[in-house]
Formats: sequence, C-alpha cells, structure tokens
Amino acid sequence: MAQSSIEWTEMTWNPTTGCTKVSQGCKFCYAEIMSKRLQAMGVEKYKDNFEVRTHEDALKTPYTWKKSKVVFVNSMSDLFHEKIPLEFIQKVFKVMNENPQHVFQVLTKRAERLKELHQKLKWTHNIWMGVSVEEQEVENRIDFLRETNARVKFLSLEPLIGPLPNMNLDNIDWVIVGGESGHNPRPMDADWVLNIQEQCEKADVAFFFKQWGGKNKKKNGRILNGRTYDEMPEIELQHSV
Ligand code: SF4
Repeated sequence: MAQSSIEWTEMTWNPTTGCTKVSQGCKFCYAEIMSKRLQAMGVEKYKDNFEVRTHEDALKTPYTWKKSKVVFVNSMSDLFHEKIPLEFIQKVFKVMNENPQHVFQVLTKRAERLKELHQKLKWTHNIWMGVSVEEQEVENRIDFLRETNARVKFLSLEPLIGPLPNMNLDNIDWVIVGGESGHNPRPMDADWVLNIQEQCEKADVAFFFKQWGGKNKKKNGRILNGRTYDEMPEIELQHSV
C-alpha cells in the first residue's frame, strides 16, 4: 500500500504487478518506468521488473487499514491481464467484498476480458470499475464496461491522444480526463477536452479534469473554463463485515 499523488484517489494497492502493452495509451507506461526503478532499488516485489506477478501477501493488506480509504487497485499492473488467473482475480474481489468500508477503484484496458469474466465476480457496492480510453480506436471498451454489474462505472480518458466526440455515456457515472506528461508527451487539444466536458454535462455524468499534462505538468495545471473540475460519484461506505 502506498499514498498516491494521483488526484482522484487516496492510495494505491497492488496485489499484482507487471503488464504488457495493449494500445497507444501504453506507449509511455508509468508502471513500466516505475517497476524498473523499484527493481534497481532492490524492492523484492519488483525483482522480476515488469513481468506479470501475483502477490498473495498483498491480499492481507486492506484488512489492516484502520480508516476508510479510497484505493486505486493495481496502479502497477492491469488486473484483467490474460496472465492473471481468474482464481486470483476472484481472490482480489473477495478482499474487496470483505472490506466494504473502503472504496476500490479498478481500472483496466483489458475490457474484453472484463466482459468475459464479470459474471464470475461478486460486485459489491464499494467496487468502482473503470476502463481507459485514450482515443476512438478503443472506444468499444466503454460498451464492455457497461455490461458489468459494477455500481459505479468510470472512464479514464488519459492520456487523451485523440478526440472522442460521440461517446455513449449511458450508464456511465464518472469521466476523468488527463493529458500526457513526461519527456515527450503527445499533445492534447483543448477542444477535445471542452467537448468531453460538454458531453458529460449533457449526460449528467461527473467530470474530473486531472491535468493538461505536457513537459511541465505542474505549470500547465488543471484549469479548464477558468475553474477546476473535481466531480466524483458519491462515496457510500459501509461497516466492515
Ligand atoms: S495496460 Fe496499463 S499497466 Fe499495462 S502496459 Fe498499458 S499502461 Fe502500462
């Protein structure tokens, strides 16, 4: 478990690590860069660098958190990666099911596998399920997400590298938008962001603008239309079971 600097969550929890690239959004994968660093620092969990690994030990961690948390699951991996067995995904879900005092935000680019497995998973109210959509080519991930029984369904449009002018936002609760940052970021057009914000407003979907990104993401900030957008779905917490 680690505190997170990601604006839309509180902390990260990584019961799996490692991944492989599936689409354009993966080009400058932050998890891959971080894994390399952590391996070089001698962190045991990352001894195999970015190879897909499951970590049974990490399954115990959420039971130890004293206060309610909003947790991003697998910032260093993709839970629905084809190398992660269904049995392990079910174990991760069991932990989330047994800890209703925390909100768990699961994000995947493997929306087809999510669709394939979703009926074999128990969707308690505290599991928020999201898909990453960086450009139109992968917009069908939203349709796969829509089929799940997650109470909160969200989209991470980051790094946004193309316009998404006609999204079907039926049954979607939350949209996060962010531009790419780093040494060689791909540009994000302001019109794409404004258009998405308008689509969310029309569809009454919570909108969170994370960052413009770019080489100096701090300086470029997160102001849009002269304000920040920090909308989120309502957090409904229950006592532990
Ligand atoms: S799916 Fe996510 S973790 Fe996996 S390579 Fe792509 S960006 Fe990295």
